[in-house]
Amino acid sequence: MRVMKMICTECLAIATIRKTNRKHPQLADVYCSCTNVECGHSFVMTVSFSHTLSPSALKGQGRVKELIDAMPEQDREKALEFLLQAKKRA
Ligand SMILES: [Zn+2]
Repeated sequence: MRVMKMICTECLAIATIRKTNRKHPQLADVYCSCTNVECGHSFVMTVSFSHTLSPSALKGQGRVKELIDAMPEQDREKALEFLLQAKKRA
């Protein structure tokens, strides 16, 4: 797995991530410090979600299956009743 590398905006040396302030699942402020001792620049980068390349397996059916798998046996019976009732209404 590749790890994202931050580059100092002043001297282009590798910067260390000191802190991540996650504002939203798709947006974070990343606090960085330059590793070049002669530079010493500390700065904040914004990392944001851009677009999906392959959809999550947890969307739609995957999410429902995950929920059902996590349910105790007796709750599954109850859930089945709810689903059958909902199907009748539709
Ligand atoms: Zn630097």
